[in-house]
Amino acid sequence: MTSAPRRIDLRSDTVTRPDDTMRAAMAAAEVGDDVLDHDPTMRELEERAAALLGVEAMLWVPSGSMGNLIALMAHLRRGDRFLAARGSHVLEAELGTPAWLAGGMPHPLEWSGRPGRVAADDVSAMAAGSAPYYALRTTLLCLENTHNFAGGTVTPPDEHALLVATAREAGLKVHLDGARLWNAAVALSVPPAALTVGVDTVQVCLSKGLGAPVGSLVGGSAAFVAEARRLRKMLGGGVRQGGVLAAGGLVALSRINDVAADHANARTLAAGLAELGWEVTEPQTNIVLASVPDTPTTLAMLDRVGVPAVAVPGGVRFVTHRDVLAADIAEALHRIKSA
Ligand SMILES: *Cc1c(COP(=O)(O)O)cnc(C)c1O
Repeated sequence: MTSAPRRIDLRSDTVTRPDDTMRAAMAAAEVGDDVLDHDPTMRELEERAAALLGVEAMLWVPSGSMGNLIALMAHLRRGDRFLAARGSHVLEAELGTPAWLAGGMPHPLEWSGRPGRVAADDVSAMAAGSAPYYALRTTLLCLENTHNFAGGTVTPPDEHALLVATAREAGLKVHLDGARLWNAAVALSVPPAALTVGVDTVQVCLSKGLGAPVGSLVGGSAAFVAEARRLRKMLGGGVRQGGVLAAGGLVALSRINDVAADHANARTLAAGLAELGWEVTEPQTNIVLASVPDTPTTLAMLDRVGVPAVAVPGGVRFVTHRDVLAADIAEALHRIKSA
């Protein structure tokens, strides 16, 4: 090999960089002090996202993890049990903050045959109300759509509605981790609001497939958002002239439908890898999971050919995104074949 090949980075959709259009919007943003009162561009982003997601109000936060944590802090009292699908981001990838900072007792729900999806019966069984006074009190169900570690799997609106109804009937609150809700909505051809029906709170990411450099939003009722603003400040997430960041978020929100191209690229990648004899999942959105016998060796090979991916239990994960084009996927497959 004479010169290093261009890297085709499939580790995550978080590697996306703001393009010229987004940078220009950020440079031109109208700003104010969002900690004192409100930054006008922040407010515009929050209002537009609330309308899109069918909730009363939303709050910009620096990260999805902070958005989830704020929701859990608002919902949980110390020692309350919360339910979440096995492998959920809140269980596996947020440093234990749901327990450490929000005081919750986590309880993983098994996948009900389909990766990343849980059964309504398991929700009601865990929430059984007639337990003695010293039993754990279950107060919250956390959903994740798409489910990241299950391979970007989608929960459709009817199943979402059944889970929410079951949780409500059992007296549970519902938080939706919608870091990639956009991908679910596009894969299902439904508006994002069709996937938030009945939830108390929802968190969405702007900094993944939509390409913003920073930012998530967490929302629900206006009363929740008023409390969330206090919690954000407590966690060090209040920013002042945040309009510079929010302007990138507004451009990101205009690009939701673009993730359809990422989904097509994921299907091409999975089909190509399968042709090369890899054992891969059929992608529902922009994530491809491959089972490999020796993950470190495979990751080292991928890195050597300039197609980095990440380790997941039992294999490797590839994520397609807006900075990787169809031609890059073809090139990636070519390099993997040659290796
Ligand atoms: C990325 C992600 C988050 C957290 O977002 P950060 O901005 O990285 O903190 C939360 N949930 C899911 C499912 C994610 O994929």
